[in-house]
Amino acid sequence: MANCAIVGINWGDEGKGRMVDLLTENYDVVVRYQGGGNAGHTVINELGEFALHLLPSGIFRKNVVNILGNGVALDPENLWIEMEDIMNKGVSLTPENLMISNRASLLLPWHRDCDALEENRLKDKKYGSTKQGIAPFYSDKYQKKTILAGELFYPEKLRAHLTDLMEWKNLTLTKIYGAEPYTMEMLDAWLNDYCEKIKPYIADTSSYLRKAQAEGKNILFEAQLGSLRDLDFGIYPYTTSSNTIAAYAPIGSGLPNAQIHDVIGVVKAYSTCVGEGPFVCEMFGEEAEQLRQYGAEYGAKTGRPRRVGPIDIVATRYGVQVQGATAIALTKLDVLSYMDKIPVCTHYLLNHEQIDEFPFPLALEDAEPVVEYFDGWKCDISQVRRFEDLPKEAQQYILYIEKAIGCPITYISVGADRDSIIRK
Ligand code: GDP
Ligand code: MG
Repeated sequence: MANCAIVGINWGDEGKGRMVDLLTENYDVVVRYQGGGNAGHTVINELGEFALHLLPSGIFRKNVVNILGNGVALDPENLWIEMEDIMNKGVSLTPENLMISNRASLLLPWHRDCDALEENRLKDKKYGSTKQGIAPFYSDKYQKKTILAGELFYPEKLRAHLTDLMEWKNLTLTKIYGAEPYTMEMLDAWLNDYCEKIKPYIADTSSYLRKAQAEGKNILFEAQLGSLRDLDFGIYPYTTSSNTIAAYAPIGSGLPNAQIHDVIGVVKAYSTCVGEGPFVCEMFGEEAEQLRQYGAEYGAKTGRPRRVGPIDIVATRYGVQVQGATAIALTKLDVLSYMDKIPVCTHYLLNHEQIDEFPFPLALEDAEPVVEYFDGWKCDISQVRRFEDLPKEAQQYILYIEKAIGCPITYISVGADRDSIIRK
């Protein structure tokens, strides 16, 4: 038996979905343990091209059980829309291959409103939220002001609970933001249109996982976003509102005693970042535009152009450390094939000093990148499947990163398709 977490080392969009889809061939169960429907995990396989938001990326494999753990922001509306979309594309979703934790808290309709209202209030000081209600959801969860998915099986108690929450939330909506209040009719429609649809999938997934563990099944934990967006260890307050790191996987998945044997950290061969916040290695102008085009760096959920830069060794090394990564999957190496010289952010300059340690969030704003250049390889590597067959410049680039971040690179992805992979 082996458990594995697949996590993002950087700011997200490293290609986690692609790696989960590939590696689930060796696992029985895949669990999403945090985050919400603001994720965009792109998976391309023999069934087509998919942008998954809340569904685990193991959903395409037969005989794999996919679980949405108690740690996710369970948005019934978005989840049902996503499920319908996936089913329309021919993927079978049944209570046998998709299970929702009865202890997952529901993202309520007003969370999206609160998110948008607060971003509008902040104007140019906004956090760059995807406005999916994730921050209001998690703050309400920790205030114990949400509904657990399992409450759907107790309709009368649920209605009373919802009424109390609505009265409380209407105070914020009307008195602070001057917005329209919610009514029970609106919530009944939400219950009927979305919650009822996902209800058949809700189960005691912790109990299922304990059995799976006892039977020696292999469990894979799938994260959203990356180390630098972790609520406690990332670039606060430009983080997400949950813990993206592997250490949270046992709790958020519903198997708090789980041991994680392998932590596969996904690192992109260059850097991207969506939304606001300090991004030390950011490139601008023509150079940035070119990389964005070659890498197709536009958000899977929002379509927003991603900010881009060279690989950031300082941030990546830190990401590896906080994740406790045991191996690295380096993705999108093929994208760099157009470059004559490949930039690498090797250090930061802070107060005229060269530093290796990732700084405190506020200090990040004053840090500047120190950039060195590596020779490019200038040829198509997308068909290469063995490390030895890569051009020597590409090998050198990989070996340099491996040493600099202190973790072995065991997968190198050279294309978006499932099998465009080099195992080292
Ligand atoms: P995630 O959020 O970490 O799952 O990553 P995203 O799916 O948001 O972003 C990764 C993007 O890169 C997706 O569009 C993938 O299809 C694509 N991709 C993944 N690996 C590779 C690769 O090795 N080469 C290329 N060219 N594209 C890749
Ligand atoms: Mg993504």
